[in-house]
Amino acid sequence: MKKQIQAIQSYTPEEPLSEVKKRYGIKRLVRLSANENPYGTSACVKEAILKWNFEEENRYPDGYAFELRKAVAHKLNVDGKKLIFGVGLDEIIAMFSRIFLETGDEVLVTNPTFSEYALHAGIEGAKVIKINCDKETGKYNFNSFLDNITSKTKIIWLCNPNNPTGTYEDVADIEEFVKKVPKSVLVLIDEAYIDYVTESKHPSALELSKQFENVAVLRTFSKIYGLANYRVGYAVVSAKIATYMEAARLPYNLSSISQVAALAGLQDQQFVNTSIEKNKKERQKWEKFLTNNGFRFYHSQANFIFFQCLQADTLAERLLKHGYQVRRGLRPDWLRVTIGEPEDNLEIQKIMIAKENR
Ligand SMILES: *Cc1c(COP(=O)(O)O)cnc(C)c1O
Repeated sequence: MKKQIQAIQSYTPEEPLSEVKKRYGIKRLVRLSANENPYGTSACVKEAILKWNFEEENRYPDGYAFELRKAVAHKLNVDGKKLIFGVGLDEIIAMFSRIFLETGDEVLVTNPTFSEYALHAGIEGAKVIKINCDKETGKYNFNSFLDNITSKTKIIWLCNPNNPTGTYEDVADIEEFVKKVPKSVLVLIDEAYIDYVTESKHPSALELSKQFENVAVLRTFSKIYGLANYRVGYAVVSAKIATYMEAARLPYNLSSISQVAALAGLQDQQFVNTSIEKNKKERQKWEKFLTNNGFRFYHSQANFIFFQCLQADTLAERLLKHGYQVRRGLRPDWLRVTIGEPEDNLEIQKIMIAKENR
């Protein structure tokens, strides 16, 4: 066994909804702890799966995800050969770490951010340097990133919008930053929540991945497309990096059902657009509520909000008893809540300002 495995704290996945319901003795549980799409999944997905040729159950799936690749390449206007598909964006994160990190290498992340960057760096024996976000705004401290680059730095993770802060960085600022990063350092931009950004007309750093060989953009079907159960994510990389990743990728990582689901989801942009609009409206209401009631929070461009509250654990427990699961443990006294459906948001807010919580 690799020595570093002993020190790894494994990722704690979400508990099955049925288990949580049983434990709390509740009938209805709304999970707002995993940033899933509260509006479900496009109906086109189920329809497409039912049309799948079940006679191919005993056959291996298309290992190159040909149809899905063509559709994503067309939608993003990128060369299909530069797309790498993974079992969720999770696998893409693991693949980058496995391919590019060796013992003693260094990885830079903002703090707080998605925990899997550090997890997989740790598995490869690399050292993770956490650079605190701006205390006031939650945004990236790009200068501090530059100050921390050494000859050992191999990967810089940029999560945009960042999970859990929800904050968004302009592509122009990222470009300024990338220009100052040595070409030998990979800049990996995780855009799991990019569709939720409404403050910029062209929020994605996709163009940078075409311009700079050391920049890649990562996406997932788990969030806005509501396809978390199907496990499909991908990266847009340079031709050179694509060769490395294809060499290390498991040949049949995506099942046919997953490929069919993602393709059908991609083709229903109306579902995506409706989700964006509803989320934007509810996000505005959430921010107004937090402002009016004196909660500290970071301005969000995602489908969740990160806010401060004293006795966060007590509030999280109280919310659970009322059937609402939110995410704790990301920063002391802060909670992350996925923006839910209108009635649920109101109900949570009511519980938050009830006398016993103040
Ligand atoms: C949810 C999430 C992922 C993982 O997505 P999957 O495709 O479901 O594996 C990756 N990055 C961030 C920032 C996320 O929040």
